[in-house]
Amino acid sequence: MVVMKFGGSSVADAERLKHVAEIVKLYIKRKPALILSAMGDTTDHLLEAGDMALTQGKADIKNVEKLHLATIKTLKLPIQKEINDLFEELTRLLSGIALIRELTPRTKDYLVSFGERLSVRIAAAFFQSVKMNTKAFDAFDVGFLSDSNYTHAELVKESWDLIPQKITPLIKGNVIPVITGFIAKDEKGNITTLGRGGSDLTATMVAAACGAEEIQVWKDVDGILTADPRIVKNAKPVQNITYEEASELAYYGAQVLHPRAMQPCIKTGTPVLVKNSYNTDAPGTRIEHSQAASPKNRPVRAITSRRNVTLVDIVSTRMLGQYGFLAEVFSIFARHNVSIDMVATSEVSVSLTLDANHDLAEAKKELSKIAHVEVKTEKAIVSIIGNVKRSSEILVRAFRTCQFLGVTVQMISQGASKVNISFIVNDTEAAEVVKALHLDFFEETEKPA
Ligand code: ASP
Repeated sequence: MVVMKFGGSSVADAERLKHVAEIVKLYIKRKPALILSAMGDTTDHLLEAGDMALTQGKADIKNVEKLHLATIKTLKLPIQKEINDLFEELTRLLSGIALIRELTPRTKDYLVSFGERLSVRIAAAFFQSVKMNTKAFDAFDVGFLSDSNYTHAELVKESWDLIPQKITPLIKGNVIPVITGFIAKDEKGNITTLGRGGSDLTATMVAAACGAEEIQVWKDVDGILTADPRIVKNAKPVQNITYEEASELAYYGAQVLHPRAMQPCIKTGTPVLVKNSYNTDAPGTRIEHSQAASPKNRPVRAITSRRNVTLVDIVSTRMLGQYGFLAEVFSIFARHNVSIDMVATSEVSVSLTLDANHDLAEAKKELSKIAHVEVKTEKAIVSIIGNVKRSSEILVRAFRTCQFLGVTVQMISQGASKVNISFIVNDTEAAEVVKALHLDFFEETEKPA
């Protein structure tokens, strides 16, 4: 069995769906299960519709309807009634939001679930029309049970048994299940979502729980790249990478995979292949436990950056050697629901970074009782993912590059995962730093990635 996941841009319209059918046909003998995202930008359109209902009191699904109806028409699919029923349900939901002018996280999850529910029905109907034995499923009907953390739910451990109970018999019966990515249900029966980009996690979970031989994540790029191609023109695909490296890349800004997607595979060792649906011949990136030796012995796998970060410097006003300072700092952030990314500490001070969208006013007030607090905005995290056994070499080269550019490094941290060295620079300097690091680590001696 193989699990094949196709993201929004891979299933964006009738043409792309035809192409997906061609790709899947190549793997029929390996017994595929398919996981699909919502078509194109549907998730964003649903969120916009929710916002319009909330702020303007209007239930308008035109944007969502257009793409799906056009696809059904072009592909001549006999599922108008089923799709109209979903549109009606969606309109009722939006009218409810418009009436009470309230959009809770629970309702938001129900709202965005329509994207994946529409896409699998359309795709499965089309695949049937080209003689593939497909059947559409909502993930919650094939064992996806989660907690009630709406908008970023976690799957509960029972899912590990429930999913293969449902899916393995289908695969044995030569059915190709076409399953919604991203969504699940909680114990109360409410629809939940696994966080934006969560279809990757759906796919790795199906594969890990069912003991599949591999997961293929089909994207619109040639795999995981050595840097963001919008910043670095010469970014190249990485051939091999470990689960840990891929997770660090996802957390620190590379929009390749959902940050939690590697977790099921780390448990089972199921390999993940990231492939390009627009360029099927490209080998893609293979993610697994052990890292194949780096060609030409390069110390770095990839470089990424995350912008719009806030740096907080906290210096204790108490005497040296007092215990409990760090615990108090972290519990203040926890109480105010502020999640921390990077941390660097000394005996009496701690520097940490946060996403800029946190409101810090209350946390700062409380922290000021025990420390001097300085909040610095418009920073960026630059992360170097690689072989941290060679950290001294990486640091020398990275800091030499920053010195050369006249960029001051404002904080550094070597992740506990031992694959990530991150540092903070001004937001405006991040792109220039990433470009220069890429030049030094990947381009100057023209080594293959
Ligand atoms: N459709 C959802 C999103 O756009 C989930 C996914 O594509 O993985 O985030």
